Amino acid sequence: MLAGLFALALPSVGAPVQERLQVVATTGMIADAARRVGGDLVEVRGLMGPGVDPHAYRQTRSDILAMTKTDLVLWHGLYLEAQMEEFMEMLAARRKVVAVAEGLPRESLLSHDVYRSRYDPHVWMDPDLWSRVVEAVRNALIAARPEDEAQFRANAERHLAEIAELSAYAKKVLASVPQESRVLVTAHDAFAYFGRAYGFEVLGIQGISTQSEAGLSRVSELVDILVGRRVGAVFVESSVSDRNMRALVEGAAAKGQQVRIGGQLFSDAMGPDGTYEGTYIGMIDHNVTTIARALGGEAPERGMLGRLSAGS
Ligand SMILES: [Zn+2]
Repeated sequence: MLAGLFALALPSVGAPVQERLQVVATTGMIADAARRVGGDLVEVRGLMGPGVDPHAYRQTRSDILAMTKTDLVLWHGLYLEAQMEEFMEMLAARRKVVAVAEGLPRESLLSHDVYRSRYDPHVWMDPDLWSRVVEAVRNALIAARPEDEAQFRANAERHLAEIAELSAYAKKVLASVPQESRVLVTAHDAFAYFGRAYGFEVLGIQGISTQSEAGLSRVSELVDILVGRRVGAVFVESSVSDRNMRALVEGAAAKGQQVRIGGQLFSDAMGPDGTYEGTYIGMIDHNVTTIARALGGEAPERGMLGRLSAGS
């Protein structure tokens, strides 16, 4: 009896199996980067699923448990996870905690329109900038497990090449949108880096954080812009209520301007788990393809790789 128990408790004979590095990541985009760079060597738990708003998210009891037991915690920083800052500071005294976007060169960041001392956190909207974050994820994995450095570097190279391909695709299809139509109206100000990268004017109903309320005056101001510039489409976001967007469409219609909802964009969270849109590449491919097609540009219906779900 006792011998049987011991046999169960002992590791099986053969090559020693190294335990996978345990990683907890806050946003889906960071979890995706950690999975791509870590490959088989890591086990990643993402805290914020599809449709979850990181500006408002507060750690749950099970998140806290996971983070206090894990090898490495990756979060975004730049005040994206505003409700988790205090907890992360406490946790950093006990565990390896890395804010992967905090290391970006300050000159590459856009300023925040509300808080002078802060930056716009939505850097994943520009694939070239996101590549730097992927490198930060790679470096954090290497620091946590130096013996697997070669594998992490090889995986990162592969993923960075895909992101470079995505960046080239985005530049090409967005350049096909007529100059006067390069106006992107969305629910909150998540697309400023997108606008800078591709030459779009970006107007959000809410501010950089979804926590601020959209004023009626902001809505009527945007209605005037839509009508005045004959903007044909506005976009809803998967992680923000579309109530304000409907008000815009109705407001424009009352002034004789037909405005369509051009599609749903992924702003601060990715698509459903297990789908192409549930990856960083798929998320941005979806956004770029949807925006280009809705605003009069040319892009393949199923996106860069023909993998976007039909009618998305
Ligand atoms: Zn946001």
